[in-house]
Amino acid sequence: MNAKVHELINQQINKEFYSAYLYLDFSNYFENAGLSGFANWYKIQAQEERDHAIIFYQYLQNENQKVTLEAIDKPDNNFSCHMDVLKAGLEHEKYVTALINDIYAEAYEAKDFRTMQFLDWFVKEQGEEETNANELISKMELFGSDPKSLYMLNQELAARVYSAPSLTL
Ligand code: MG
Repeated sequence: MNAKVHELINQQINKEFYSAYLYLDFSNYFENAGLSGFANWYKIQAQEERDHAIIFYQYLQNENQKVTLEAIDKPDNNFSCHMDVLKAGLEHEKYVTALINDIYAEAYEAKDFRTMQFLDWFVKEQGEEETNANELISKMELFGSDPKSLYMLNQELAARVYSAPSLTL
């Protein structure tokens, strides 16, 4: 494997675990705010990010590439309102999309077609993640200021259940 592609995928393991940590912190925020449905939604999001980390890890293992696990950053967000959390989530997903695109660009440059095919799932996944984050913001804009509506939205988010990713290696 091309050294730069290898380095970026190895870094991505860390970034995905950081994403899991970040969303667990979001879940923690909403648990403390008494919105357990929002907390549930982000806790499941955290589980999905952990799955992503393992998929990148397994891809390097399958390709006989060395894995180096680095320290995971502390999430250090101080939120002044619920909307801040949702917006931080969208910004984070845009950042992750850019990371995936960067790996893709390096794989393309290196004519690493297997890695490109592997990354296709993540390209699509990032589109869905950004859509989900945008939808949450829209719903909060529409309903967040009314307590009864916020209660209903919280109930809706409480219904999210974890399912394993469609891509496994
Ligand atoms: Mg992810």
